[in-house]
Amino acid sequence: MEVFDKAELWSRDEIAHAQLTRLKTTIGRAAKCDFYGKRLADAGISAENFNDLSKLADLPFTTKDDLREQYPTGLLCVPKNEIVRMHCSSGTTGNPVAICHTRNDINSWADLMARCMFMVGVRSNDVFQNMSGYGLFTGGLGIHFGAERLGCMTIPAGAGNSRRQLKLVRDFGTTVVHILPSYALILAENLIEMGEDPRQIPIRIALVGAEPYTDAFRRRIEDLFDLKVYNSFGLSEMNGPGVAFECPEQNGLHIWEDAYIPEIIDPVTGKPCADGEIGELVLTSLCREGMPVLRYRTRDLTRFLPGDCVCGRRHRRMDRILGRADDMFIVKGVNIYPMQIEKVLMSFPEVGKNYLILLENDGIGDVLRVQVEIEKQHFVEDMRALHGLRDTIARRLRDEILVTPRVELVEGNTLLRAEGKAVRVVDNRKPK
Ligand code: AMP
Ligand code: ZN
Repeated sequence: MEVFDKAELWSRDEIAHAQLTRLKTTIGRAAKCDFYGKRLADAGISAENFNDLSKLADLPFTTKDDLREQYPTGLLCVPKNEIVRMHCSSGTTGNPVAICHTRNDINSWADLMARCMFMVGVRSNDVFQNMSGYGLFTGGLGIHFGAERLGCMTIPAGAGNSRRQLKLVRDFGTTVVHILPSYALILAENLIEMGEDPRQIPIRIALVGAEPYTDAFRRRIEDLFDLKVYNSFGLSEMNGPGVAFECPEQNGLHIWEDAYIPEIIDPVTGKPCADGEIGELVLTSLCREGMPVLRYRTRDLTRFLPGDCVCGRRHRRMDRILGRADDMFIVKGVNIYPMQIEKVLMSFPEVGKNYLILLENDGIGDVLRVQVEIEKQHFVEDMRALHGLRDTIARRLRDEILVTPRVELVEGNTLLRAEGKAVRVVDNRKPK
């Protein structure tokens, strides 16, 4: 198999060997900042005495709050003049999380990203258009440098402005894009409105990530554009994109275990989950110099897929992200994730590009409203047909989430569209 980096084909033994060596180095580096220095000393752990990967759980967890408290440079483990770039995580209130990178950090991140892209068939003769926002968001520069590393002609188009995106695609013959799932459907809609057939444009591969989406959503993007979609996962705290990526099998995302140690834990007890069991993803960086992060609690929910991937890579696979622990909402005592709702909605061909979950309290109890855009050709005058569809969607949702929602069908293109990552849930309930 042709690969960008030999580490992609390492055996489990080779992975474990590199993990221990790199974790020891990481512990040694981390101890240089006061925050980890104290925590590691309290746990009695040093680079010299840590010699067994199975003792990983002895290391302290790091939470998002820890990173916020250490903003801006409390976790720096190298002199500030060795830092060449910083990024922030998105969607935070109060202090953001800032991650600082050395030149080696930026290089190894670009290599990881190039590895992901090469794995799904991107080559130097591809034209790559990055339709994600740039700036502090890692989906911009992070993927950009991976594409340049591969030798692609790289177009930093940025987010939105479908007309300009289309012009660039046409003028430069774009074959690969990086795009948010929510924007992919909007782009298709805008192209159709401009009289274009999205299936006729030359894009053959879309790297899609940064927010949760279901497999049914993926198939929609693939059908609309006639291309292959590969799921791209990452988070700023672990560089950004390039942490885990789907291989051509499209059956789970390989986590690059030569660069990260993944764990999946019960979010309440902190105990490890068995393969196949859903829990919170915890990641330790293994190659970072500027700001190593130990056992970071991502709040992202997923599971290790049991068994080996038929592609031959031995880096463990995780399932697509079910949602963030913070996205879960409770209605009438039932825990619900937005992706459960999306899965049902996307199984209806009549359902359009956008939906919104509204949580309200009518004075008696919780009300779950689901507003669903309906494709133009299905938004017919025939009220009976529409009511029938609405009731069927409500029934199917109830079967999935055990709560009967109030489904409202709205015309395509009428729900608010977010600028960056999609907003799927609005909770208007008064605090109890
Ligand atoms: P950021 O703070 O901008 O670095 O965003 C990182 C977060 O985006 C992750 O912790 C996930 O919650 C989410 N995310 C990134 N990639 C994916 C993906 N492929 N599927 C689902 N969620 C994702
Ligand atoms: Zn695979």
